[in-house]
Amino acid sequence: MYIDTHAHLWFDDYKDDLDQVIERAVATGVEKMIVPGTDIESSRKAIELAKKYPNKIFAAVGIHPEEVLNNNFEETPPAFGVPTRPLAGSPVEESPLVQLQKLLDGQDLIKAIGEIGTDASTQELRGCMNAQKELFKSQCEIALEYDLPIIVHTRESLDEALVVLDSLPKMPRGQFHCFSHDEEGIKQVLSRGFYVSFCGNISWSKRVARLVSLVPDDRLLLETDSPLMVPRDKKGNPIHIDKSSDHSPKIAQGSELGDRNEPANVVYLAQLITTLRGQKLEDIEKMSTDNAIRLFRL
Ligand SMILES: [Zn+2]
Repeated sequence: MYIDTHAHLWFDDYKDDLDQVIERAVATGVEKMIVPGTDIESSRKAIELAKKYPNKIFAAVGIHPEEVLNNNFEETPPAFGVPTRPLAGSPVEESPLVQLQKLLDGQDLIKAIGEIGTDASTQELRGCMNAQKELFKSQCEIALEYDLPIIVHTRESLDEALVVLDSLPKMPRGQFHCFSHDEEGIKQVLSRGFYVSFCGNISWSKRVARLVSLVPDDRLLLETDSPLMVPRDKKGNPIHIDKSSDHSPKIAQGSELGDRNEPANVVYLAQLITTLRGQKLEDIEKMSTDNAIRLFRL
């Protein structure tokens, strides 16, 4: 059994055929999927999917760093970054962080806080890095309070995220997802106890592919980041696990297959990782699945 630890199955991309997408995943051996939200609304959708597909889909709830561009988080009470609960009947609209905490109460379908973190990939995002760090910190504190792992996004901003983590009273446990930094970055996150996963970027970036063998067996996770980051061949065509055949995972490639990624492709990425690490596919399957079950307490 494989586990896709990062698939945004609430995207509109799946609105017509999610049942088939999940069937294909399960038929290919990807029996469990973690679905992270990126704001309150999508976090709610992730919980709904976990209810609809029990024991196959598990939810993560969180506010993505890009959301600082859409929301005013300044109104969050500043007490150590953790929002206080509003008084009952309060007419004030609740801040996203308060709503996030409410989602967590009594929900054992939620296995992580994510995806959260920092993003410095555009000028606009770099301009609100302080707000991003505050938002990330507050959500890490919520994760510590609820004893949940975090799923961390650190696009072009690993140092900024590490500063936040090091400022916390205790290091949270969690996953650095879609890792794309360098060898020193891998060392930094491993030394803080984190797990690491890569997505389709290992199929087109030699630089990222070289990092795959640096993650110890007991810290490696698999993910697709669906519907994004579809794996690609040398010509740039998307690669998919063949959908038409029997249950053996055959690889299909070609521009007609479309750019939408899906959890079944974790098996293709596992094959690539097997080659990059010089291990056996069944060992990659077992170790990454054991790691996901341990980290997310599935
Ligand atoms: Zn994501």
